[in-house]
Amino acid sequence: MKTPFKLKVVQYLIRIYFERWSFERNPKRHQERMWLKLQKHVLSRSPKYNSLEFQDLKTFPIQEKKEFMGDFNAINTQELDFNEAMEIAVKAENSRDFTPTIKGLTVGLSSGTSGNRGLFVVSENERAMWVAVIIQRVIKWSFKKRKVAFFLRANSNLYSSVQSKLIAFHFFDLLSPMEDHIRRIQQLQPDIVVGQPSLLKLLAEAQKNNSIQIQPQKVISVAEVLSPEDEKTIENTFMVPVQQVYQCAEGMLGQTCKHGNLHLNEDGLIVEKEWLDNNRFIPIITDLRRNTQPIIRYKMNDILHATECTCGSKMQALTTIEGRMDDVLQFGQDKIIFPDFIRRTIIGASPEIDNYQVIQVSYRELSLFISDVELWEAAASALDAFFKSQGIPNIAIFKSDTLRHEKGSKLRRIHAKSSPTM
Ligand SMILES: [Zn+2]
Repeated sequence: MKTPFKLKVVQYLIRIYFERWSFERNPKRHQERMWLKLQKHVLSRSPKYNSLEFQDLKTFPIQEKKEFMGDFNAINTQELDFNEAMEIAVKAENSRDFTPTIKGLTVGLSSGTSGNRGLFVVSENERAMWVAVIIQRVIKWSFKKRKVAFFLRANSNLYSSVQSKLIAFHFFDLLSPMEDHIRRIQQLQPDIVVGQPSLLKLLAEAQKNNSIQIQPQKVISVAEVLSPEDEKTIENTFMVPVQQVYQCAEGMLGQTCKHGNLHLNEDGLIVEKEWLDNNRFIPIITDLRRNTQPIIRYKMNDILHATECTCGSKMQALTTIEGRMDDVLQFGQDKIIFPDFIRRTIIGASPEIDNYQVIQVSYRELSLFISDVELWEAAASALDAFFKSQGIPNIAIFKSDTLRHEKGSKLRRIHAKSSPTM
């Protein structure tokens, strides 16, 4: 008999409870055991990896998104064909009907610029696991009935999977007009709101001007970089701390602890670090719980800041996700500027700046958008002074009067040019 989905979620809740306990007792031993199990039960069924069975993780190739997608057919354990799966995912995205599956598996597109979209496939068990992690580590278990308003750029039926007596997910499609969201969320009166920071900020504005009056007990930020400024605005409006979730291609990578630091879920992940300086690193992840489309030594594009946390967990703590490697500005051959410095400089120019964007046009030109045009000069001269202090003279800063943000996509406040023209 097939196990009902909710029962599976409960089984996984118990399993991850013990996995967490086992990790905290002895991280290395726990990960080694999980890695052996993964090789035995999962990688043995992957054409790409079965010949590498029972070898050290370090002998497996590191892959970035492009290679990972290019190797889709060889990596997955279900003999799925990339083109067939892609067709289903694109059809679902266009029709906004996310029920079709392939061989009973859910397919979805991870966001990314067009032409660079990722395809992910998860089984029902993996969906149940995802829900269990969300409930255990983010929403937290409670016997009180709660309504969750979940804003996302729909990309699979992964999220519509939980409705029970205790928890009800209400799904808001980011592509719908903001007026509809405002009306619906006011009616719903959610206990928990989950969404990307740019959306949470719009909700905070709506709350401030009385278009909505909601009292969520939890506000959870996903998908985009949450800057300290946005965090403060959202917290001050809803009077609750903003929790952060770090996830990729529908894997739950981390979430904030009670001390406000993010922790990587190393009880189900092996995270190798490619250090950029003393505390910044790019993570290379191996997901010990995925089995349809194994994720082995997958190099992310994110810049994470390592820290120590006093909450007691041995899972790697982070102060922040600074942004993506695509947001790192490059000037000339060897001068790079991390996005955090640009952000601090602009915010530092005036405490009233809260909506801005920098787009690098070339090695010598940047366009700068500041929503309050009266503050543009101040921000531009602060940037100019900053570049000079870094030994990067003669950067021309142009005024932009629009924010580049395609509806439903992630808002990026800092865009580096991937290969700037001289
Ligand atoms: Zn902590």
